[in-house]
Amino acid sequence: MPVQVAIVGAGPSGFYAAAALLRADAACHVDFIEALPTPFGLIRGGVAPDHQSTKGVSRAFARTAQEPRVGYYGNVVLGRDVSLDELRGFYDAVVLATGAPLDRPLGIPGSDATGVYGAAAFVGWYNGHPDFCDLNPDLNTSAVAVIGNGNVAIDVARVLVKTPAEMAATDLADHAAKAIHQAPIEDVYLIGRRGPAEAKFTNKELTEMGDLAACAPMVDPAQIPAQVDDEMSDRDRRLREKNLATLRGFAERPPGEKPKRVHFLFCAKPVEVLGDGRVSGLRLERTRVDSGRAVGTGEFFEIPCGAVISAIGYRMPPLADVPVDEAKGVVTNRDGRVAPGLYAVGWAKRGPVGVIGTNKADGDTAARQIGEDIAEGARPGSPALEALLVERGVRPVSFADWQRIEAAEGAAAPAGAPRRKLIRIKDMLAVLEDSEVKVTES
Ligand SMILES: Cc1cc2nc3c(=O)[nH]c(=O)nc-3n(C[C@H](O)[C@H](O)[C@H](O)COP(=O)(O)OP(=O)(O)OC[C@H]3O[C@@H](n4cnc5c(N)ncnc54)[C@H](O)[C@@H]3O)c2cc1C
Repeated sequence: MPVQVAIVGAGPSGFYAAAALLRADAACHVDFIEALPTPFGLIRGGVAPDHQSTKGVSRAFARTAQEPRVGYYGNVVLGRDVSLDELRGFYDAVVLATGAPLDRPLGIPGSDATGVYGAAAFVGWYNGHPDFCDLNPDLNTSAVAVIGNGNVAIDVARVLVKTPAEMAATDLADHAAKAIHQAPIEDVYLIGRRGPAEAKFTNKELTEMGDLAACAPMVDPAQIPAQVDDEMSDRDRRLREKNLATLRGFAERPPGEKPKRVHFLFCAKPVEVLGDGRVSGLRLERTRVDSGRAVGTGEFFEIPCGAVISAIGYRMPPLADVPVDEAKGVVTNRDGRVAPGLYAVGWAKRGPVGVIGTNKADGDTAARQIGEDIAEGARPGSPALEALLVERGVRPVSFADWQRIEAAEGAAAPAGAPRRKLIRIKDMLAVLEDSEVKVTES
C-alpha cells in the first residue's frame, strides 16, 4: 500500500516537503491541508508586494500541487475543521508546515498603546491576508519607528515611503495603498539594538533604500565601523563588509531634496513606548556592541513618532495538540521528528530564520525520515478526510478552485499590476460559487 502523507500548510516548506516526498518514494500520496483558500503561505502574505520576482518560485510549487499523486484541501484548518488525532488516524505520516505566523511581543512599557503594531500583523495587512485585513493601523503621523534590523523591517520601511508610482506594478492590497499613500509620513526610523555590522539586511534590500524616488537614506557616519572585527566565516565577513560599504555610501551622500527620509539608527535599544494610551514617541537607550551583544550604556534619548512597528521575530501560536517549545516559538522537535509519524518542517520546525530556499533542506530531511520510519502504508488517506469534511459541512478549496480565484484577481488587476487581491475568505469563496462575481476595491 502506498504511504499516505498529510502536509499541513501550503507554504514554501510544505511544497518543498511534498516535492522531496514525491522524489523519494515513487508510490506515496501527498495531501495538503491549508487553512486559507489561497496557497503559498508567506510568499503571498509576507514577501513584499514590490518584490514580485521573489514570488516566482510559486510557479514551481503550483506544478507540484498538480501532480497526480498530490491532493489539495484549502480552506481547511487543523484544530478547527480536523483534529490532529483525526489526521494521524487517516494518514501514515503528518508533516506540520504551519510556519510561525505570530509576532514576538515587544515587551517594553507602553507596548500595548494604540499605534503599536507587530510586523506579522502589519505586513499581513498590507499584503491582504484575511486574518489582518481589518487591522486598520493609524498612520496619521509624520514619523514611524520600525524596530528591527532584518529584511522584514527594511521591507516595512520601504513600503511606507515608496510613491504610488513606485507601487503601481505591485499587489499591495487596495485598502493599504489608500491608507499608506494618504498618510503624511515624512520620517521612518529603522532601529537596531546592535551596530551596522550586525544588521541582518541582505545587501540587495539595503542598496534599494538608496534608489527610492522620494526618500533619502540617512546614516550617521560615526556609527559605521571601518571594518568587521568579529570572528566569522569569510562569506559572512564579505556580506557584512558589503553592507558597511553601502551604509558608508549613504552617509557620504548630500541630503538632497527628497521629501521623505529613512533614518538608520544603530546601537539603540527601545526601552519605552511614550504616550498616554496612544503612541507619541519612543525612548531608547544607546548601546555598545560587546562580543556581538548589545550592552546598555545608561545614556537615553527619545524620538517623536506616531506609530511603532516591531519586526523582532515570529513565533507559532498554540496549534491543535501539537507540543510547542514556548521559548523558541516552534513545534517541539528533534531535527523535525515530533512523535511517531509526526514531523515538522520550515519555520514551524526552526523558527523564523532564512529565506524561502532555506526551507528546502527541511523537506529533504522529512522525506528521508518518513522513508526510514514507514515501510508500508496502512491508512486510508484522502477518502477518510473527504468524508469527514462532508460530515462537518466544510467546503474545501481544491487547487483548481484556487486557480479560479487567481484568475479573478488577475482579471481585476489595474494596468501593470499582477493582481488585485481578494482579502476576505467569503469573497474568495464567492468567486467559486458565482463566476460573475467581480473583484472590487474594498
Ligand atoms: C514579512 C516577510 C517577508 C519575507 N520576504 C522574503 C523574501 O523576500 N525572500 C525570501 O526568500 N524569503 C522571505 N521571507 C521568508 C519566507 O517567507 C519564509 O522562509 C517561508 O515563507 C517559511 O515557509 P513556511 O512554509 O515554514 O511558513 P509559511 O510561509 O508561513 O506557510 C505556512 C502555511 O501554513 C498554513 N497554516 C498555518 N496554520 C495552519 C493550520 N492550523 N491549518 C492549516 N494550515 C495552516 C498557513 O496558512 C500558511 O499557508 C519573508 C518572511 C516574512 C515574514
